[in-house]
Amino acid sequence: MVNLLSNQMLPLWKSIARQTFTKLESLADFLELNQDQRAQLVLSPSFPLKVPLRLAQKMAKGTLDDPIIRQFLPLQQEMKPHANFLADPVCDVRFQVQDKLLQKYAGRVLITCTGACAMHCRYCFRQNFAYAAKSGFSDEIAWIAQQADIHEVILSGGDPLSLDDALLSPLLQGLGTLCHIKKIRFHTRFPIGIPERIDVNFLALIKAIPQQVYFVIHCNHARELDADILERLRALQSIGCVLLNQAVLLKGVNDNVGALKELCEVLANHGILPYYLHQLDRIQGGEHFEVDVACGRLLIEQISRELPGYCVPKYVQEIAGEPNKTPLM
Ligand SMILES: *Cc1c(COP(=O)(O)O)cnc(C)c1O
Ligand code: SF4
Repeated sequence: MVNLLSNQMLPLWKSIARQTFTKLESLADFLELNQDQRAQLVLSPSFPLKVPLRLAQKMAKGTLDDPIIRQFLPLQQEMKPHANFLADPVCDVRFQVQDKLLQKYAGRVLITCTGACAMHCRYCFRQNFAYAAKSGFSDEIAWIAQQADIHEVILSGGDPLSLDDALLSPLLQGLGTLCHIKKIRFHTRFPIGIPERIDVNFLALIKAIPQQVYFVIHCNHARELDADILERLRALQSIGCVLLNQAVLLKGVNDNVGALKELCEVLANHGILPYYLHQLDRIQGGEHFEVDVACGRLLIEQISRELPGYCVPKYVQEIAGEPNKTPLM
C-alpha cells in the first residue's frame, strides 16, 4: 500500500529522486530504442544504471548516438577488458587517512561523504570505491581539527548532495567550528539531475557556513543544463557561493570544438567559471570514452582562440603521487 502520509513529509527533491530510471528496459522503452540498439547495451552492469527523469528527458529518442545517452547508458564496450584500464586508476586507497578522508594535496583534504549519487556516469573513476559503511563524520572532523596546515575541506563522494540535510548539517556545523578551515568546497553533479535539491532548507544550511563556500559542479555538455538548473545555481551565487565547473573530456560527448566552446560559454554566461577539463581517468570499462591527449590539447588551443581566457578550463590529468593535478597544456 502506498504510504501517502510519509510521501507528503518527503522533501520535493526526494520524491523527484524516486522518478529515476534504474531498469534498462524501462529506459530503453522511454528512449524508443530498437532491437539492434538494445543489443548494444548491458542489461545489468556491475555499476548499476541510474538516470534521473530530467536527464532522460534530454536524451534523443531512437538513437544511442547522443552526448547525454553516451554518458549514462551502459554499452557492451564496457565489458571489454583492457590492460591499462583499472578498478582504481587514481589510487585513491593509497591516500586514505581516515575511513572517509583522502589527502593527496597540500592544504586540502577530501571527504568521501557518501557513495550515493543522483546519477551514475559510466566513466566514473570512483565507481568501484569501497565507501565506508559507518555513518557520521566525527572521526573525520576530529582528524581535521588536528591538522593546522589544512585550510580547505572538499565535500565529495559519491555526491555530497545525496546526503539528507539532517546528515549534512552536523558535518557543516562541525567544520564551521574549525578556525583553520577557510574554505568549504562541494564537488557535485546532483543539480544536473535533480536541481530541486537546492531548496530553501539547503540554502539555509549553506548560508550558515561561516567559511567561504565553493561549488564545483560537474557538467560535460551544454545540453545537460536548463533554466531550472541555472536558476537554482544562481540562488547559491546570490548567497555568496563561488561556482566553478569541472568536465571530463569524453569521446562522443564533448570532444569537438563546438560542444566544448558552447559548454564553457554557457557556463560563463551564468557566472560559472570553467575550472578543469579532466583527461579521462583510465577506469575499467571506460576505454571507449578516451580521447587522445594530443586531440585534447588541440581542442583547448582552438577554444582559446575564440574565448576570453577566464572561459578556458585548465586541461589536467590526475597522476597518482604528483603534488597536484598535472597540467597537460
Ligand atoms: C582533485 C582532488 C582535490 C582537488 O584538487 P584541486 O586541484 O584543488 O581542485 C583534492 N583532493 C583530492 C583527493 C582530489 O582527488
Ligand atoms: S556523479 Fe560524480 S561520483 Fe557520481 S557517478 Fe557521476 S562522476 Fe561518479
